[in-house]
Amino acid sequence: MRRMRQIAIYGKGGIGKSTISSNLSMALHERGLNVMQIGCDPKRDSTRVLTNGKFITSVLDTYRAFHDKGRKDSDISLEDIVFRSDDGIYCVEAGGPKPGVGCAGRGVLTALQKLKDLDAFGTYNIDFAIYDVLGDVVCGGFAMPMREGFSKEIYIVISGEFMALYAANNICEAIKTFASRSKIGLGGVICNSRNVDGEREIAEEFSRRIGSKLIYFVPRDNIVQEAEINKKTVIAYDPKSNQADVYRDMARRILANDRLDIPKPIDIEELEDLVQSYS
Ligand code: ADP
Ligand code: MG
Repeated sequence: MRRMRQIAIYGKGGIGKSTISSNLSMALHERGLNVMQIGCDPKRDSTRVLTNGKFITSVLDTYRAFHDKGRKDSDISLEDIVFRSDDGIYCVEAGGPKPGVGCAGRGVLTALQKLKDLDAFGTYNIDFAIYDVLGDVVCGGFAMPMREGFSKEIYIVISGEFMALYAANNICEAIKTFASRSKIGLGGVICNSRNVDGEREIAEEFSRRIGSKLIYFVPRDNIVQEAEINKKTVIAYDPKSNQADVYRDMARRILANDRLDIPKPIDIEELEDLVQSYS
């Protein structure tokens, strides 16, 4: 039997998780893998550039629509929640409650449970699943992909900015907690550059201090915005561009990675000193 891989991409809001996830999905798809990308952010914009700018119906919205029509949850089928992009990437958005109402992580809980119950990965022969998870708040819902049966392999997106590292450090705390119960680990750190002074060094040093490694350094490039405005991944928008090759190379590194670590979060003073020492 083929071994399926499930990875989760965590990081602070706006750090570049969805851009990285979508281009990774495309890069893996180009290599002939069957890919599913699962947006676990109430913003439900994870897969937007994979679907030509269309916001697909989220799992929670599907639940609401079924309730409104008086239909049972058990009537929901895979076709109601999994959307195949024109390129052939399977897209899911967990969705969330209306802003200000209820737990933001509920969509993730509901969506992942439903995908499991309906055997989404088996049905579509998925080789690689990518969970794109908002990681500012590591509440029960957002920690869901780390639980048994879902992703075992986590990547954290950072930049050289303090708040990005602070969020990453908190995510490490959550991974450490869950690692004692299920076999999960940190695959590595991805730096999505914000052009901060000494950024590569900060990213390498941070990764080393938490007991992990910098898997990839993604340069900042305006082509990302250009592709975004055109509702495409960089790989689809300009396949010959340097940035498209960056994402392909990142995908190769992730594919080749077989080391998972249990991270050791550092204390806030150490984090502050680390950032200061390179500025
Ligand atoms: P997240 O999913 O973590 O909230 P996004 O992937 O939506 O973050 O990215 C936030 C913004 O940063 C987007 O407008 C995106 O175009 C931009 N961005 C992401 N990566 C890069 C990059 N390498 N170079 C330039 N802009 C980027
Ligand atoms: Mg996002």
